[in-house]
Amino acid sequence: MTLLPNSLQARDVAYHFHPYTNARRHERVGPMIIERGEGIHVYDDQGRAYIEAMAGLWSVGVGFAEPRLVEAAARQMSRLPYYHTFTHKANEPAILLAEKLVQMSPDGLDHVFFTNSGSEANDTVVKLVWYYNNGRGRPEKKKFIARQGGYHGITIAAASLTGLPTNQRGFDLPLPFVRHVTCPHHYRNALPGETEEAFADRLAAELEAAILEEGPETVAAFIGEPLMGAGGVLPPPRTYWEKVQAVCRRHDVLVVADEVINGFGRLGTLFACEHYGIRPDLMVVSKQITSSYQPLAAVLFSDAIYQGLADHTEALGNFGHGFTGSGHPVATAVALENLAIIEERGLVANAARSGARLQERLAPFADHPLVGEVRGVGLIAAVELVADKATKRKFDPPGRVAFHLFERAQEHGLIVRAIQDTIAFCPPMIITEDEVDVVVARFAQALEDTRVWVADHA
Ligand code: PMP
Repeated sequence: MTLLPNSLQARDVAYHFHPYTNARRHERVGPMIIERGEGIHVYDDQGRAYIEAMAGLWSVGVGFAEPRLVEAAARQMSRLPYYHTFTHKANEPAILLAEKLVQMSPDGLDHVFFTNSGSEANDTVVKLVWYYNNGRGRPEKKKFIARQGGYHGITIAAASLTGLPTNQRGFDLPLPFVRHVTCPHHYRNALPGETEEAFADRLAAELEAAILEEGPETVAAFIGEPLMGAGGVLPPPRTYWEKVQAVCRRHDVLVVADEVINGFGRLGTLFACEHYGIRPDLMVVSKQITSSYQPLAAVLFSDAIYQGLADHTEALGNFGHGFTGSGHPVATAVALENLAIIEERGLVANAARSGARLQERLAPFADHPLVGEVRGVGLIAAVELVADKATKRKFDPPGRVAFHLFERAQEHGLIVRAIQDTIAFCPPMIITEDEVDVVVARFAQALEDTRVWVADHA
């Protein structure tokens, strides 16, 4: 593709260095410019419509161009467009949202700290836990255990918690305070013939061995997404969380649930912690909190942690952490309206209903010659492509076939995501069952195109 001089595309290539993009490839192909969105659709600058079956970045829960969110932002902008929350200042939407989050979240989460992004929220988790343990007189208890394949963001501490080579290669990460344990993905990581239950037992034993090897007095917390998202949509074995929580409790290791993708209905329950029976000491939320209309994330934590932190702020005179945008009035006002919409329109129940349809319609693809596994819970799902069904052999090079499918899907008016050789689906929570059928039909066309292409390129 040649980029027209002075076109928006050419100016993007000239000036805009993109996240998660191969810059040299971008010079050749230029950007796809999205101009507007409505409901589950987005439209590019050529006027082409796409079903956004990833809800942007797993995040636009109420769909695009929701007028109530536009009005909530405009109302707050004209009243108080910005104020900070440092040094005892507060604003009404931030107060109301903190209260709302505590009321709606799992029991035992009583206090809220606001950030702009999920990465900042996870960096904040690390600092809160360090500060808490310093205050409690156990400065050696600082290590985090995370999982291979986990995603917690890209700032220095968050990217260290993340267990994906792409976020660490080239960046001198992870920092040594993190140890990664096995990803709870049965299809890829179970031993031959191992049941889900036995696999969960083995991973809990591995976690315990890791804690004992490090020394429990040095291990502060275990962090995980209840259902892993960016690593490939990986639901853990049913009893995994119950077992790892028991290990953590035995060794006084805090449990951190990263619900940045899972939270606010994605799995068909308000939080994934309900689905998996997790009772976290800290929980991180973002994305669907505002449907990404505004950047916002929050860390929720227990009263026990609060008491320790509060004592330490008194001892040191101040809590030396916070963002210019912490508790931003426009972001928190949009979040309040967004959560009201989720409640009033029953979008969690809708995610359960349309999600059941999505899982049911995708399940038969497990028999397709290119498909190794179909998986998901509620309105988040994935189809993993393999070179050899019997041996689960991956394509070489990894990702090429899924990227081909991703491009064909786009030609059929469907935006999905290719994660290595896995195709992910995470549509807006407003999607109807009939629209789910359209998503799956378009995916089926792209998969058929890909089957023919793979046969030709074998
Ligand atoms: N945690 C999880 C589980 C995520 O999926 C993400 C983003 N995809 C993050 C943290 C980081 O959020 P952000 O991109 O807002 O920094």
